[in-house]
Amino acid sequence: MTASRKYHITTFGCQMNKADSERMAGVLEDMGLQWSEDPNGADVILYNTCTIRDNAEQKVYSYLGKQAKRKHQQPDLTLIVAGCVAQQEGEQLLRRVPELDLVMGPQHANRLGDLLEQVFEGNQVVATEAIHIVEDITKPRRDSKVTAWVNVIYGCNERCTYCVVPSVRGVEQSRTPEAIRAEMEVLGRQGYKEVTLLGQNIDAYGRDLPGSTPEGRNKHTLTDLLYFVHDVPGIDLIRFATSHPRYFTERLIRACHELPKVCEHFHIPFQSGDNEVLKAMARGYTQEKYRRIIAKIREYMPDASISADAIVGFPGETEAQFENTLKLVEDIGFDQLNTAAYSPRPGTPAALWENQVSEEAKRDRLQRLNRLVEVKAAERTQRYANRIEEVLVEDRNPKNPSQVMGRTRGNRLTFFEGNIEELKGAIVKVKVSEVRAFSLTGELLDVPALV
Ligand code: SF4
Repeated sequence: MTASRKYHITTFGCQMNKADSERMAGVLEDMGLQWSEDPNGADVILYNTCTIRDNAEQKVYSYLGKQAKRKHQQPDLTLIVAGCVAQQEGEQLLRRVPELDLVMGPQHANRLGDLLEQVFEGNQVVATEAIHIVEDITKPRRDSKVTAWVNVIYGCNERCTYCVVPSVRGVEQSRTPEAIRAEMEVLGRQGYKEVTLLGQNIDAYGRDLPGSTPEGRNKHTLTDLLYFVHDVPGIDLIRFATSHPRYFTERLIRACHELPKVCEHFHIPFQSGDNEVLKAMARGYTQEKYRRIIAKIREYMPDASISADAIVGFPGETEAQFENTLKLVEDIGFDQLNTAAYSPRPGTPAALWENQVSEEAKRDRLQRLNRLVEVKAAERTQRYANRIEEVLVEDRNPKNPSQVMGRTRGNRLTFFEGNIEELKGAIVKVKVSEVRAFSLTGELLDVPALV
């Protein structure tokens, strides 16, 4: 049935979705399907979807429409919707797009093989019930040969009042430290140089795993995990995302400072700089606590790179409260800040509140915040001028084939002249000659022997 079949996966949204898509591609290749770069050349079409904001959700419907039409000419075309829209909509998606064969939530990514067998037996399948996520045995088909995503915790138990993630990705499920280390050991043997440990709320890692220390602390935390996997052979760089200020500890900061492989880059969404808005968001920290975390990081690692996420126009947000967000961005000086206007999401408390902010005010605030972000990032990036940076070479510069590209330990994208065949996977020294708000250009200084 599958020997000559081809598949195509389109991924929307976050790193978690990208990692899920890589695993689902691995399942399909295990079943004998081959990748088709062109979706119209594929027999199995999978959309791994995102519903974090309305515009993200709407994207999949335009894609689906085209393939649903195609299915009328090609009845054996298999159409799959996976990810967060699938979980949010479930059966309703079949009513909206009757041509669909499979609707599967994020928790079912590792079960794609079984679910597809049911489809090939002629069934239309919906898999959105909450399940315990089985350890993935598949070999992910990873996009990169140099850097890899490694899930450490699925789901989220927080209840931020704007966020749809807990309802579409379910409760926290941590993988065991042994399973995570085993996956990293395989990656090290396969020649991967960098791993990013992933979790929606990665600081919650381990709190659902049994065991506690004599002091009564969780036996398994992100900090313990970093120490546990730090000496995996072949892996030179370790990153992690996404952090939560509510659970960010000095113990974790000290570990990042002490462990040479852990990169000095922290992604810690703050969302708002106003305590009243943070309270309404149920974020569980104040802007003062957030500032203390950043100050503590910079105490240990003055040059650390800080990125975050911020929402403007949350229900009830006044001009004065928005200005507190601007003030925090002004004071902290982020290397990167992902900004978005509040988007009411199905099933979230804030979506039902009366005091919604007008679209016009949201647009105005987003523009003002983005302007400030650009100015501050341009200021922050000046510190790289004429410095020698270590860069892990990941790929050719798609815009300039004579150049290669990679990222510094501070996660700054860097371009320089070089031969990708020679340099791919090497950590090289680059003298920075040009700085831009979000990227650098430099000159290769030396090429250490590929390790
Ligand atoms: S921590 Fe909050 S914003 Fe982040 S995924 Fe969980 S509920 Fe959503």
